[in-house]
Amino acid sequence: MGPDKYLKNYIDGALVPAVSGDYLDNVNPATGKVYSYLPDSDNRDVERAVEAAERAFPEWSGSDVRKRFRILTRIADIIEQNLDVFARAESVDSGKPYSMARSVDIPRSQANFRFFATAIIHYASESHHVAGETINFTLRQPLGVVGCISPWNLPLYLFSWKIAPALAAGNCVVAKPSELTPMTAYMLSKACIEAGLPKGVLNIVHGLGGKAGQAIVDSPKVKAISFTGGTNTGKKIAATAAPAFKKLSLELGGKNPNIIFADCNFDQMMVETLRSSFSNNGQICLCGSRIYIERPIYEKFRDEFVKRTQFLKIGDPFASVTDLGALVSKAHLDKVRSYISLAEVEGGTVLCGGTEVEMQGEYEQGFFIRPAVIEGLPISCRTNQEEIFGPVVTIAPFDTEEEAIAMANGTQYGLAATVWTREISKANRVAEKLQSGIVWINCWMERDLRTPFGGMKSSGMGREGGLEALRFFTEPKNVCIKYG
Ligand code: NDP
Repeated sequence: MGPDKYLKNYIDGALVPAVSGDYLDNVNPATGKVYSYLPDSDNRDVERAVEAAERAFPEWSGSDVRKRFRILTRIADIIEQNLDVFARAESVDSGKPYSMARSVDIPRSQANFRFFATAIIHYASESHHVAGETINFTLRQPLGVVGCISPWNLPLYLFSWKIAPALAAGNCVVAKPSELTPMTAYMLSKACIEAGLPKGVLNIVHGLGGKAGQAIVDSPKVKAISFTGGTNTGKKIAATAAPAFKKLSLELGGKNPNIIFADCNFDQMMVETLRSSFSNNGQICLCGSRIYIERPIYEKFRDEFVKRTQFLKIGDPFASVTDLGALVSKAHLDKVRSYISLAEVEGGTVLCGGTEVEMQGEYEQGFFIRPAVIEGLPISCRTNQEEIFGPVVTIAPFDTEEEAIAMANGTQYGLAATVWTREISKANRVAEKLQSGIVWINCWMERDLRTPFGGMKSSGMGREGGLEALRFFTEPKNVCIKYG
């Protein structure tokens, strides 16, 4: 089940190299060194995967849902039984702390399989009855071959979040993980083989987004694309998929606001705001990166928040004291650094962080940076408008509820927002006005898998999660029966 040095594609039930025979380097972000190699796949590999999925579709889509339940549950069991191996692999591949991979990423990955395995058993469609005349019922059928493309920040967590509902609903899948974090997707291939998933039902093709990913989107036989990643990539995918009338679910970028009212539970808010700012080094699409604080508590917040940010331990992903590991790549580290310089050019004051961490020994070349808190920037500047996706937050005071809402809504994004107040009517009022797919009140990242998940505006299109995902991966057909 463990990681290997040379990863393989999973096509038609077998682990195979890319047709080209070429490999890409896979870097451990904490050491900065290549530690394994992944297939550099192209349209030929994708074509094979799509053909295998097409062949597998009639039997898988026609199978009893209890069979799908059993196999998906077995995959969940295998991930759970190998929690430690998966968590270690995820940490090495992505640079995140092992403790996080073990407590968040991998438990959630197995939960995704378990949740949708169970959901398909209980899934029911609607019927509409006109007394004595007709009964209409909605037949929900799987789409066929679907494409699932996921990013590097929560590798197996987001990969399985797409694959599990697609398979549960009876589709066959061609999937691509990010080229930066392919290892646990490769290990999932082995878990699927061990679980007895019929060949061709799930195919995992590794490689570059512009090559292997684009080939999945281009394939005329792929009926739907479920994509999580950056907004620009989402635009490109939509431009290809829309004229072919493919179903599209796009989970894209964010620039999430936290609104903190003076009447909040300060201690609880402080703990959670630190978490919502810097968990996984801010590399979670749901992290808050613009923090708006009601003026009476602005200075108290700023001083305490900066102090606690400076206490965070950055370094060895396997040390139990580590809060933040490495950023995912050198390119991403450079991007984050460039935004810190930009913030200064735009007139911001960096209150803490933003500097590289001097590491020694095996981590000397790793991609580590201290989390940064910046103040003094207007909402309109690029630092406050563009997604940085790193351990960087800006803070600013507000005076009125209306001002806070305007600031929160003042970007092209609309993924998630957090509101801190003890006044429930204020919380509800603000939640109604926020242009955001998710609003958390007095908490952050509380995830119930039954709820709709997704963004507004440039943060995406469609919703995943719970029944929304099963609806996305099925075609509704109305059947009308007339009384005799
Ligand atoms: P990218 O958009 O660069 O990549 C996402 C995936 O798409 C990767 O597997 C990538 O492959 C692939 N890809 C790239 N180009 C194409 C293409 N032309 N056709 C098909 N596939 C392609 O995003 P990142 O991996 O950098 O992830 C970070 C982004 O993801 C952030 O913007 C973040 O906000 C967003 N995100 C959104 C979430 C949400 O739920 N809304 C959740 C998590 C992250 P490769 O990496 O190999 O190039």
